[in-house]
Amino acid sequence: MTKHDVAEMPLDDDIAPRATTDSVPAPASLIPPLRQTAVLLDIDGTLLDFAPTPREVWVPPELSNTLKHLHERTNGALALVSGRSLNDIDLIFAPDVFPAIGGHGAEMRLQPDSEAVAAHAPPLDKELKRRLAAIAKLSPGILLEDKGYSLALHYRLAPQAEKAIYEAVSLIRAELPNAPIEVLPGKSVCEIKHSGFTKATGVLELMTHEPFNGRRPFFIGDDVTDETVFAIMPDFNGLSFSVGRRALGVDGHFGGPSDVRAFLAHLLDDDRDVSLS
Ligand SMILES: [Mg+2]
Repeated sequence: MTKHDVAEMPLDDDIAPRATTDSVPAPASLIPPLRQTAVLLDIDGTLLDFAPTPREVWVPPELSNTLKHLHERTNGALALVSGRSLNDIDLIFAPDVFPAIGGHGAEMRLQPDSEAVAAHAPPLDKELKRRLAAIAKLSPGILLEDKGYSLALHYRLAPQAEKAIYEAVSLIRAELPNAPIEVLPGKSVCEIKHSGFTKATGVLELMTHEPFNGRRPFFIGDDVTDETVFAIMPDFNGLSFSVGRRALGVDGHFGGPSDVRAFLAHLLDDDRDVSLS
C-alpha cells in the first residue's frame, strides 16, 4: 500500500449520540418537479459506498445513467458537493463530467464543459503541508493523503497514535497561529483544510448562478462537513436528507447509498408525468 492508497473513512460514526440508524426513505413527494429543483449531492457515503481506499470506489452504471438524466431533466441544475478535488471527482465518474463543488468548497464548476471557477483558496501552503506530513512519521500505520486543498492523516492502522497526532497538529497550529487552517476530526482520520470556506459557502455561491438560482434545492449528505449544507437549505426553501443516520434538522434520511441511488432513480420515474404535463 502506498502513502496515497488510503481510505477516506466515513465521519458519521463520530456523531453517534444524536444519530439513529433506522432507515425511513425520504418521501419523493417532498421534491418539487425537477424543472424547479436543484439537485445537490455529496459523493462518498452518499452516492457511493465506501471502499477500502478512496480510489477503489465504484460508480454503478445505473447511477451514471440516473445522474445524467437528472442533469438533463433539471436543465443542468445538478451538482456534486464533495471534499474531493474536481480532478478526483472527474476521475471517479469518468467519462461523465458533472457540475461540482470540490475540496469542501474550495473550487466549483457550474457546467460540465466549463472551467473551475470561484476557487476561494489556494492549495495548502507547501511548508505547512510538509510539517503536517511529517506527523505520519510518528508511527508506522499513519497514512497520509494529500487531497490538494486539504491533507488527511489516517490512523485506522495505528489507533494508538490518535492522541499523538492531534497533539502534533495542535503544536503546529500553535507555532503558526496565523495559518488559515482548520482541523476536521473524523473516524480514524484527522483532516486539515483551509478555513474560510466550507461546502456551505460553496453551495451559497453556486445558488447565485444559473441554472441553480431561483430553484428549490435538495441536498443529500452523510457526514459532519455536510451539516453546514443542511443548515443553509432553509434559506432556499430547500430540503436536506442525511444518510446512515438522522442528522439534526434534516427532512428525512436514508439507510445507505443504495437507498439514495434508488430514490434518485425513482425521482425520474415520478417526474415523468409532471414533465409531460
Ligand atoms: Mg460523504
